[in-house]
Amino acid sequence: PSAISHRRISVLGATGSIGVNTLDVIAHMGGPEAFDVVALTGASNVALLAEQAKAVNAEVAVTADERRYHDLKAALAGTGIEAAAGRGALIEAAGRPADITMAAIVGMAGLEPTLAAAANGGVMALANKECLVSAGDLFIAAVREAGGTLLPVDSEHNAIFQVLDPAQKRAVERIILTASGGPFRTFTREQMAGVTAETARRHPNWSMGLKISIDSASMFNKALEMVEARHLFNVAPDQVEVIVHPQSIVHSMVAYADGSVLAQLGPSDMRTAIGYCLAWPFRAHMPVERLDFAKLAQLDFEAPDEARFPALRLARQALAHAGVAGAVLNGAKEVALDAFIDGRLGFLAMAETVERVMEAMATWPSAASLADVIAADAEARERARALL
Ligand code: NAD
Ligand code: MG
Repeated sequence: PSAISHRRISVLGATGSIGVNTLDVIAHMGGPEAFDVVALTGASNVALLAEQAKAVNAEVAVTADERRYHDLKAALAGTGIEAAAGRGALIEAAGRPADITMAAIVGMAGLEPTLAAAANGGVMALANKECLVSAGDLFIAAVREAGGTLLPVDSEHNAIFQVLDPAQKRAVERIILTASGGPFRTFTREQMAGVTAETARRHPNWSMGLKISIDSASMFNKALEMVEARHLFNVAPDQVEVIVHPQSIVHSMVAYADGSVLAQLGPSDMRTAIGYCLAWPFRAHMPVERLDFAKLAQLDFEAPDEARFPALRLARQALAHAGVAGAVLNGAKEVALDAFIDGRLGFLAMAETVERVMEAMATWPSAASLADVIAADAEARERARALL
């Protein structure tokens, strides 16, 4: 008999890349024998959301987009599955009791629903890194106060979590995040200047959502992950290191005081990290490719180039400050990224925009309330828009 049976689970952002992989993992781990699905949430793709809700017999399906309510309702007619729409409904459904929440909404839009889920206690499988980048201290406190367990889904942080023994925490010298370098790893600045969203989204190793794929190309994804790591593992800014590793096999490492470096390795398939979080504290079988070291033959590492990828330098600045610095970095980045996707801003101008917003807002408070975070995010977006 499986150790995992009838755990209640909600998947926020079920229709996205992480969400679809999560439902695949749920099915692989035994489906209805292993999990009772509480809430599934999505946004515009209500056809997929309804199909997913029927497949797992969810209690409720919520679209964040109010205009899609009737489509969702119609698609679920006669199933007994509740249909709901809008921001309020999303937050309400996210807060329903569950043993595990997969938090996989993209962007700052995920913060409030994820906080609502955190208030439940239980396991918080966190893919939405923006919660930690924008509101790290608050978010960690919310999980802790509710007696919950925070498990990182992001592959790098999941790797670190796997090799960081809490009993040896004081002997940690460095957290080493690996970065693939993205599709423009070898590009000059001149070459990068003209790239489009269509080329930027083509990640060499991972299949992911549109925004995180482009953030990987600009290395803003790694920038966010540096801030994410600081909050998750409570280390000093100078203990967070980035190393470019084009094969994406070593998912990250922890360096200890005795000279040992522990790494987690695996295929570039998010189901390993998702499965780890869903099976925790056990491990489940996952239908991913197995590493064949004879075939791999070679693992490369190189120093990141902050001149070509200024996002990393901006992350260092955000790390140096507490308070709302992360919210400013992320808010400005989300606006710049949307503008790049729409063809209104060049690839290199994304980092320039974020840098100018960070400079303009450089007097951060050292601690921040949720209201401070939301205000800083709004101001950063406003300033970034004004620069476009
Ligand atoms: P995605 O774009 O594929 O999916 C995003 C999900 O969020 C969808 O279900 C969408 O309907 C929902 N959503 C979008 N806007 C929303 C809004 N305003 N309100 C409510 N819901 C909304 O994204 P993804 O690649 O699955 O990434 C999800 C999160 O996980 C991101 O924070 C990303 O950084 C993180 N992450 C993803 C991967 C990956 O492999 N895809 C890896 C590590 C971390
Ligand atoms: Mg990652």
